[in-house]
Amino acid sequence: MDHFNYRNGHLYAEDVSVAEIAASVGTPFYVYSTATLVRHFKLFDDALDGLDHCICYAMKAASNQAILKTLGNLGAGMDVVSGGEYRRAISAGIPSEKIVFSGVGKTLEEIKLVLQNGIRQFNVESESELKHISSVASSMNTLAPIAIRINPDVDAQTHEKIATGKAENKFGIPLSRARDVYADAAKMPGIDIVGIDLHIGSQLTNLEPFEKAYQKLADLTQILKQDGHKITRLDLGGGLGIPYGSEQSAPPLPLEYGKMVKKVLGHLDCEIEIEPGRLIVGNAGILVSSVLCIKSGENRNFAILDAAMNDLIRPAMYEAYHDIVPIEQQNASRAEKVYDVVGPVCETGDTFAKERRMNELFENDLVAFRSAGAYGAVMSSEYNTRPLIPEVMVNKDRFSIIRKRPSYTEIIDRDIIPEWLK
Ligand SMILES: *Cc1c(COP(=O)(O)O)cnc(C)c1O
Repeated sequence: MDHFNYRNGHLYAEDVSVAEIAASVGTPFYVYSTATLVRHFKLFDDALDGLDHCICYAMKAASNQAILKTLGNLGAGMDVVSGGEYRRAISAGIPSEKIVFSGVGKTLEEIKLVLQNGIRQFNVESESELKHISSVASSMNTLAPIAIRINPDVDAQTHEKIATGKAENKFGIPLSRARDVYADAAKMPGIDIVGIDLHIGSQLTNLEPFEKAYQKLADLTQILKQDGHKITRLDLGGGLGIPYGSEQSAPPLPLEYGKMVKKVLGHLDCEIEIEPGRLIVGNAGILVSSVLCIKSGENRNFAILDAAMNDLIRPAMYEAYHDIVPIEQQNASRAEKVYDVVGPVCETGDTFAKERRMNELFENDLVAFRSAGAYGAVMSSEYNTRPLIPEVMVNKDRFSIIRKRPSYTEIIDRDIIPEWLK
């Protein structure tokens, strides 16, 4: 459930008319709903009720500080994957003891930055990274809290580009190496083992792969505890999928996920950490765009929008499906036609939807891509020298721009002309 609904035929974000935002901000732009963010965070919090837990929002899904602050005010921690995200989380007021640092390649500078300013734990992805953390921490005379990311070799049954828990993926260490690596870690200076980590992929639409992976995690927890390691936290990663509108069956709800977690891991006396990204912010954001042109090809109708693949890359990158809906519901009474919905970028891949049956579109119509909150604005670029589009946040009857559209001067002046060309 989200808070983008029609009222008297007009699409609203909470209590604000989307057309009104468009008139004020100009298209294209992203809008996020505070109420939806809050609701999704609470669904997870309630689902894990009764377990000692910490919800570390995977901020790579949408990292605007207004979103981080909204979640931070509810008690959320953050899962960061770079020094940049760490700085952003700190800047949004997230306490460092609620930040976990994930990611397959951390630079020595990033490790140092985080150790200087505080961290909940490093999620370590390789033996070589473990050595880097050990050497930086011991040179600083400090202890780095770590969990080691296990690759449980389960099939997440999701798009290949976002499956991360199979043996052939670059993530984590193989389960078969876990005991040895933990034994090595325990002897390393500067290393404080606090738990075990895994994350098997994104946009999972059933619980079975999670349950398989968590079962392996439960077994490993008992073995490592018997080996004498202090395993007090289990980081389960993120990955719970959302309905985009094209799937056969609805993905499981956080409540069902929570029940399964309690069943498989509840008896281990460990604090549970989860790192949801998409499920918190995916349906809390839409992308609003207007129709520039309608073009009828030989056997195709093209609807050309002012948004493009540089603004929302998911269809081009993951063959992702997004519902595209009119801002004015009266348009839903128009006859249906079949469109390829595309952007203006010079790539055939700049296609949002192929052969999509929609109510007839006309120039200047406003449309919204639903479920565009996660992996939308954060993956945008200035390809074709198209300015990054604004982000807007709604809270009841108020809205505010939370990232403004840069001016062309700001973009162009970043280039530096070398002396010899002047
Ligand atoms: C991407 C990622 C997440 C979040 O995944 P979602 O599918 O957005 O929930 C969590 N943890 C790690 C380590 C990730 O890389």
